[in-house]
Amino acid sequence: MFQITKDEPKYFTLAKSKVKLPKVKDAWSNKNINSIRARLREDILLREQKGLCVYCEKKISSKANVSNIDHFETRDLVSEKTLDYQNLFVSCNVQHRCSSFKDSKKSPLKTKDDYCNIVNPVSENPNDFFDYLFSGEIVPLSDKAKFTIALFNLNHQSLYDERKLLADTLKYCSNLTLDEIYENFGYEFESFINNVYPKLKEL
Ligand SMILES: [Zn+2]
Repeated sequence: MFQITKDEPKYFTLAKSKVKLPKVKDAWSNKNINSIRARLREDILLREQKGLCVYCEKKISSKANVSNIDHFETRDLVSEKTLDYQNLFVSCNVQHRCSSFKDSKKSPLKTKDDYCNIVNPVSENPNDFFDYLFSGEIVPLSDKAKFTIALFNLNHQSLYDERKLLADTLKYCSNLTLDEIYENFGYEFESFINNVYPKLKEL
């Protein structure tokens, strides 16, 4: 998970102003919002999230079968934030992690107050909450971080394995600067690279 800065596009503000009841969960399927949703998904993903799922940091496309606009605080519990731009992130659609895991029937989030227990990537810096190991594991630095990792399943085996493989590859590139690493590898798993690459250089 990485920190994002939100910058509400004018076309979204305009579309929102045409919705008579913006603070009910059905506002999301209002025709004014429906018609801009694909554009919004692409803009959030590319302009604010470097093409990455905000939670697992996998590189994703904005196609509807691959990614979705996730209401960080779900519309079912916090309907007043249905059209709150600060509450809209792009997540991957992978089953058993990220938004699909957070909003599943097994989710431990049952009330509005439960959202205080998750790291919010807009109002908080996730880097303050997580440490990363060469093994690919994300280590929580607090109970809130632990709950967040579990809620999004950020130590899902496939993510764990991919981060391990990346760390193994980066060991052979320790002569490069961090900028050169991103030029060559892209931004996938940026928080992991930011955290472990300086440590790899010290080995
Ligand atoms: Zn994801």
